[in-house]
Amino acid sequence: MAGNWKMYKTPAETTAFFEKFRPLVEKSSHCEIVICPPFTNLAAAVDAVKGSNIRVGSQNIGWAKEGAFTGEISGPMLKAVGVSHAIIGHSERRQYFNETDETVLKRTQAALEFGLTPIVCVGELLADRESGNTEAVLATQFQKGIAGLTEQQFAKIVIAYEPVWAIGTGKTATPQQAEEVHAHIRARIASRDAKIAALVRIQYGGSVKASNAAEIFSMPNVDGGLIGGASLKAEEFLAIVGAARA
Ligand code: PEP
Repeated sequence: MAGNWKMYKTPAETTAFFEKFRPLVEKSSHCEIVICPPFTNLAAAVDAVKGSNIRVGSQNIGWAKEGAFTGEISGPMLKAVGVSHAIIGHSERRQYFNETDETVLKRTQAALEFGLTPIVCVGELLADRESGNTEAVLATQFQKGIAGLTEQQFAKIVIAYEPVWAIGTGKTATPQQAEEVHAHIRARIASRDAKIAALVRIQYGGSVKASNAAEIFSMPNVDGGLIGGASLKAEEFLAIVGAARA
């Protein structure tokens, strides 16, 4: 279960969140928990979760090791701070910062090269869904974005299916809609390697809250969630983590 904090919280607010959240999940071992705060809060988050089962992720990762890439943060830098995961290709990065399937592939390869687990986001726009193009859009994102990975690399990624129309809108995909796309993604991976398809984690993201989480996570091909707004509050995120037990 991963929390994407987007551009929210200061380091002090991050520490305060974990003071509340950490004791609440101290005994939870049924799922992995990752919080992805803004870059400026990573050190505070890593410090706050030391010795616990909570992991810390970034919301992006540069594709180079170092160099003249103003505004980027590299894999070795993230690793040095104690980060273990990196969200890649979130729809907000695609929409506002020109992230493309090609850069998603480069960032994913970099994450793997530097020992971080990539959480690769895919998903269709409302217009794509309404025109019946969901599978075609996912096929392109898959083909250009992650199909270039080796089998070994593929086995190490997490995929987050996030229908863009459901992110931050309060509109959630129905459990059936999520299941349909997750099964499609798994089948696409299976056509390449059945073993990897069975093992790969496919998270759902898009307006998941404590009130709808259990229903979505009960779907057989939904392996977890990427949670935005609802991960900012310790009690709400705790309830979502609990819903993954079902
Ligand atoms: C997200 O940011 O990945 C997300 C799913 O946001 P929200 O849960 O707020 O829709």
